[in-house]
Amino acid sequence: MTEGEVTRETFWKIGTVGEAIFWYLAVLAILVFVYGVYSRFSRYTAGSADPFDRLSNIGTRIRTAGKIATSNEKQFDRDFVGGVMHAFIFWGFLTLLIGTTILAIDLDIYEPLTGESFYTGTFFLSYSFVMDSMGLLFVAGISIAIYRRYVVRNERLWGKHTSYEDDLFVWSLFALGVGGFLLEGMRILGQAGGPQGFEQASFVGYFTASVFRIGGLSSAGAEAVYPVVWWSHTVVALWFIAWIPYAKPFHMISSFANVVTRDPDAGKRLPGQPLDPGADTGLDDVDDFTWKQILDQDACTKCGRCSSVCPANASGRPLDPRDVILDLKSYREDRDAGDDSVPIIADGGTSVIDAHTMESCMSCMACMDACPVEIEHLTHFTDMNRQLTEQGDVDSNVQDVFQNLMQQGNTFGESARNRPDWTEELDFEVPDAREQPVDYLWYVGDYPSYDGRNQEVAKALARVFEAADIEYGILYEDEVYDGNDIRRLGEELLYVDQASQLIGAFEQCEFETVVCTDPHSYNTITNEYSEIDFDEFADDPMLEAPVEGYWNEDDEIDIAHYTQVVEELVESGQLDVPDTLEYTVTYHDPCHLGRYNDEYEAPRALVRATGCDLHEMPRNRSDSFCCGGGGGGLWLDYDEEPKPSEERLREALEDTDADDDIEKFVVACPMCMTMYEDGRKTGGYEDDIEIVGTTELLAEAIEGTA
Ligand code: SF4
Ligand code: SF4
Repeated sequence: MTEGEVTRETFWKIGTVGEAIFWYLAVLAILVFVYGVYSRFSRYTAGSADPFDRLSNIGTRIRTAGKIATSNEKQFDRDFVGGVMHAFIFWGFLTLLIGTTILAIDLDIYEPLTGESFYTGTFFLSYSFVMDSMGLLFVAGISIAIYRRYVVRNERLWGKHTSYEDDLFVWSLFALGVGGFLLEGMRILGQAGGPQGFEQASFVGYFTASVFRIGGLSSAGAEAVYPVVWWSHTVVALWFIAWIPYAKPFHMISSFANVVTRDPDAGKRLPGQPLDPGADTGLDDVDDFTWKQILDQDACTKCGRCSSVCPANASGRPLDPRDVILDLKSYREDRDAGDDSVPIIADGGTSVIDAHTMESCMSCMACMDACPVEIEHLTHFTDMNRQLTEQGDVDSNVQDVFQNLMQQGNTFGESARNRPDWTEELDFEVPDAREQPVDYLWYVGDYPSYDGRNQEVAKALARVFEAADIEYGILYEDEVYDGNDIRRLGEELLYVDQASQLIGAFEQCEFETVVCTDPHSYNTITNEYSEIDFDEFADDPMLEAPVEGYWNEDDEIDIAHYTQVVEELVESGQLDVPDTLEYTVTYHDPCHLGRYNDEYEAPRALVRATGCDLHEMPRNRSDSFCCGGGGGGLWLDYDEEPKPSEERLREALEDTDADDDIEKFVVACPMCMTMYEDGRKTGGYEDDIEIVGTTELLAEAIEGTA
C-alpha cells in the first residue's frame, strides 16, 4: 500500500449480515432518540407562556450560547479542575461525534456517489491522529470525573437526587472511551498480520496494540476476538444514543437550549403578574410552570455548584437550591405520569416544598451566578413566594412589614413625618427636591432614614454631597419604601403600590439622576420600575397610576448607586478626597450592587481614594457571600449556625492576604450594615473589627476627623 492509499476497513470482520444488523440497530437507536427529544420539547411547548422574549435574535443567542458552551467558562469559575474535566469531556465527545459523522458521510454518501473514498492517505492519517488525541482527552476527562466522584467523593456531587443514572452516565462514557481504544488496538494488532507503521498515527490504538502483543495476544487471536469487542462497543454506543433523551445525558441538549433562551437580566428583573382579584398567580399546579421553568428543570446536571455557594445552605437554613429545582422536576414528572397531586408549596403539612425553604432564600443570586447552565432559580422561587402570599402562608414578621407598608409607607411602621428626622442633626439643611430643581434626587431609603446606625451613613453621605458642592435634594416626607424585597417575598400588589407612590413623588420633582443609598432600591428602580405598565392600573381604585404607560421607558433619567456618583465626582476632580486614612480594611460586595448590577469597582476606588489599605476576602466580587439580609432575611428569625454575617466576618479576619489585622469591614449597603453590626455582636467580634459605611470613610477623610 502506498502512502496515498493507506486507510482502514470500517466493517472489518463484521460481514454483510453483521453490517445489515448494525444499520437496523442504528436506525432503531436514532428513532428512539428522536422520539425522546420530540417528547421533551413537546412538553415544553405545553408549558405556560413565559413573560419574557427569549427567542428574538436567535442567531446572536445561539452564537453567545456557543461561546459559553465551548469555552467552558462557567465550569472553570470557582473550580479549575472541574473546568478542565468538563472541557476535556466536552471537546473530546464533540470531536468523536464529528469524526464519526464524517466517517458516515464518506461511507454512506460520498463513496456510493463517486465510487471513491476520501478516508485515505493524508486525510486518513490526520483524522486518525486527531481522533486519538481528542479521544485520549475524553478518557482523561472522564477519569477525572470518576476520581472526583468516587475517590475524593466531592461533596457537592452527591445529593438528595443522586441516582443510578448518574453512575450509569459516567461509567457508560468511560466504557465508550476506553472501549474505543481497546477496539482500535485489537484492529491494529489483528489486521494485516500485525501493526503497520502508518498506524502509528493512531498513537493510542498503536500503543494499546503493543500492550496486547506484549501481554501475549497474537495477531490471529486479536483477529478472532475483534468481532466480539466490536459488537460490545457498538451495542453500548447505540444504547447510549437511544438513552440520551430519557436521562442525565439529555443535559447535552437541554442545557444548551437553556443557555440559548436565557434572560441575561433574570433575577434582577422579576416577571410581573396579573393583579386582578381571582387571577391565577404563583405556582399552584403543574400547569403553572412556564416552558422555560420546565426547560430549567430538565437542564439541571445535578452538579451542586448552586448548593455549594448558597449562604442559606451553608448556615443550616432548610434550603438547597439544587434540591428545590429537582424536587419541582420530580413533582412535574410524577404529575405528568398521573400521580396524585400534593400542593407545591405550603406552610406545614405535605407539600413538595416547605414554606420555610422559601423563607430561607436571601435572593442573593449566588446560585444563578454559579450555575453553568443558566438555570433561573429566582423565577421559580418568586412564583412560589407569590403562591405563599396568595395562600396567606406568610411569616408573622413579614406580615408585620406588609402591614407597616400599607399603613405608613415604610417597613419600620414609623410615621412618614419622622422620615427626615435624621437630617436635623446636621449643621446644614438638606435641600428639598420638591421645592427646587436638582441634578441629583437622592432616594435615601428606609434603613438610612429610620435605623439609628444607618442614619450615620446617611448623614455622612449628606456631608460628602455638601463637600462636592452638587445640586442635590431629598423627598422628605414624600419618600416611601421602594419595594425591592417585598417583591421578592411575593407581595406584588403592594410592590406595585409602593412603586407607583414613589414614582408619583419623583414626578413632582425636577432632576436628572436618582441616587440610591441602598443597592436594593437601586436594583428595583433601575431594572423593574420601567417594566410596570401603569396603564393596566389606570382604573384600579386600589392604585394610583403615577404616569401613563411606563415610567422612564426611554432611559431619560439616570439611576445610580451613591458610590457610582461619588466616584465620578472624585474622578472629575469635583470632590477632593485626601488619602490620609491609614486603616487596613476589606470591602464586602453587596449582592444587589455586585452580582445583580455588576458594580464592583466604584466602591473600591472610593475606599482606595481615602488612603486605606484595601485587602480582598477570598470570596469577592461576583463570588461574594451574602450577609443574610436580602430577600426579606432581615425581617426573619432563623436558627443558624453560623449566621452568614458571622461567617463573613470570620473570613475577613482570617482569610485575607493582609499582613496586619483587618481593622474595618467596609460596606456599601444599609442592609449589610445592619446584618454585620448584628453578626459582630453575636459572633463575638466586637473587639476585633469595626463595620463602616463607604460614606463614613469618605467623610472622615474629607473632614479629617475620626
Ligand atoms: S438566591 Fe442565594 S440564598 Fe437563595 S437559593 Fe440562591 S444562593 Fe441560596
Ligand atoms: S441548578 Fe445549576 S448549579 Fe445547581 S445543580 Fe443544577 S446545573 Fe448545577
